[in-house]
Amino acid sequence: AKAAGKNCVRRHGETADSATVRRTRLARDLPDALSRGQLRLVYQPVVGTVERRVLGLEALVRWDHPVLGEVSPDEFVPLAEDDGLIVPLQRWVLEQATAELAGLLAEDRDLQLGVNISVRHLQSGSLVPDVAAALARSGVPAGRLMLEVTESLFIGEPDRADGDLQTLHDMGCVISLDDFGRGYSTFAYLARLPVDVLKMDREFLAGIEDDERSAALVHSVIELGRRLSIDVVAEGVETPGQLARLQELGCRYLQGFLLGRPTAPAQLAAVIDAFDAG
Ligand code: C2E
Ligand code: CA
Ligand code: CA
Ligand code: CA
Repeated sequence: AKAAGKNCVRRHGETADSATVRRTRLARDLPDALSRGQLRLVYQPVVGTVERRVLGLEALVRWDHPVLGEVSPDEFVPLAEDDGLIVPLQRWVLEQATAELAGLLAEDRDLQLGVNISVRHLQSGSLVPDVAAALARSGVPAGRLMLEVTESLFIGEPDRADGDLQTLHDMGCVISLDDFGRGYSTFAYLARLPVDVLKMDREFLAGIEDDERSAALVHSVIELGRRLSIDVVAEGVETPGQLARLQELGCRYLQGFLLGRPTAPAQLAAVIDAFDAG
């Protein structure tokens, strides 16, 4: 049977049936994951090529399932969105990430923190008060918090979500458009919304080392950012060749396994210091 649906993530060697069994189990266990402390955040560095240091971190959620082991957010975030658990989950992510950032800022580190936002949270109307509460509780200045939204938000007519995003921008939060280029017609949204940062999808990097057309495409995204005063972050940088080409093309901000893996909070200071020293 074809266990269809956007939430079906087929893992290697898995049949459709075992995928369904797994999904059912995860959906059943998810409500307890938060209360039992099974969620944690890891942080991936974002590096500035001009500054030559770690400028920011992206918070990425992990679920340590007691039996199934580490579960990817690509697998359980959609389940949370379907089950109405996404708002409490995102609230926890915001509280946890800002608390951990406050610790780093207290050590005098100059960092910005990216948090992935679910469209459902924004549409629920509670994102603005939830962000305000997390900032107030942690003491983190709004300008240190980057909210990463995807274009799935903007499909259709402007609605309250647009207004809430503008409110968050007016509060001083940095707004980034994640996975830029993965979908369609993102350009129009750039005129409509208060976007500060574009995160260029890693698909763009395939082939930039030896294919002029791919390189030209990346160059045009960087140029678009320059014209609109939007910073462009290249996502998924994996090879020294990609890094060199991106620098030639004028890309100032990089994220990817080559620069740094998603890292547990306890190891974070060491990772940042090692990069900044090297
Ligand atoms: P994303 O926001 O595009 O995050 C980047 C993903 O790419 C992360 O996967 C990261 O580990 C991976 N990545 C980073 N560098 C490289 C690289 O060089 N090569 C490759 N192949 N991959 C790289 P991760 O952590 O599995 O997260 C997957 C997605 O889950 C994220 O994609 C984001 O959309 C979502 N997500 C993660 N945390 C949260 C969260 O707290 N809330 C929500 N709503 N979504 C989240
Ligand atoms: Ca992201
Ligand atoms: Ca992305
Ligand atoms: Ca700007």
